Amino acid sequence: MKTGGSLVTFFIIATLFPATPALGWGTEGHNAIAHIAQQHLTRRADREVTRLLEGRSMAYWSAWADGLRGDGRYDLLSTWHYANADEGLTYAAAPKNPAGDVYTAVVECVSRLEERGTSDSLRAMYLKLLIHFVGDMHCPMHAGHPEDRGGNDFPVRFQSRASNLHRLWDSEIVDAARPWDALEWAVNLDYGTQRRRPNPELSAGEPLDWMEQTVVLSHRLYDDTPRGENPRGENPRGETISRAYITRYTPVIEQKFLEAGHRLARLLNELFP
Ligand SMILES: [Zn+2]
Repeated sequence: MKTGGSLVTFFIIATLFPATPALGWGTEGHNAIAHIAQQHLTRRADREVTRLLEGRSMAYWSAWADGLRGDGRYDLLSTWHYANADEGLTYAAAPKNPAGDVYTAVVECVSRLEERGTSDSLRAMYLKLLIHFVGDMHCPMHAGHPEDRGGNDFPVRFQSRASNLHRLWDSEIVDAARPWDALEWAVNLDYGTQRRRPNPELSAGEPLDWMEQTVVLSHRLYDDTPRGENPRGENPRGETISRAYITRYTPVIEQKFLEAGHRLARLLNELFP
């Protein structure tokens, strides 16, 4: 990708103007995924990651990239949080955004971290971005349909309030599924796995496989989330999301957090052998 020069400029600006936090999977989801990932870094990878992150945890930086959104100075990254695939299409078959998407973002961050001679400050930036974008890659409505902007224009009612399918899956369903903070999600989900080593089954595959899995899940959610009896557009308030829906999908949220965490750990262990 030909974004190197402008990203250097971007980085200088980003350093001068620290961003305020905002949502993605929801800060909680990103934090939980990063907590899980850090548990499975090798000692050597953990040491290098911690050095680049100046002694802060991966969770500390996990939502940093969302804090840059909506700020014109960071427009280059604005499309890197998601991808789109129409009904019935795989990611590979779907039209691509020339400005980049969450899959190309992960590939770009990995290849930048593989390069020799990159300064520590740039490596730290790509590391923070990678921590975030691996999380976004596992968030189902970050692989939604283009015509409703990844579910942003798919209205639902959730806990007596107007919402949409995108927001539901970024954070609302996570908050409703368990009364846990990010650390509790990480500890309770990832209790039985071996430290310092990603689980081979959870971390199997490559970023393209992970992207395709998220697209499949997104298609399933479009089919399974109630639109109501009226054709789209005639029911602007949306249908109510039931407790049964939350219960049905809680194991899916848990699986996505675990997969994202173990896969992120595997990528970092390979990057920092
Ligand atoms: Zn994001």
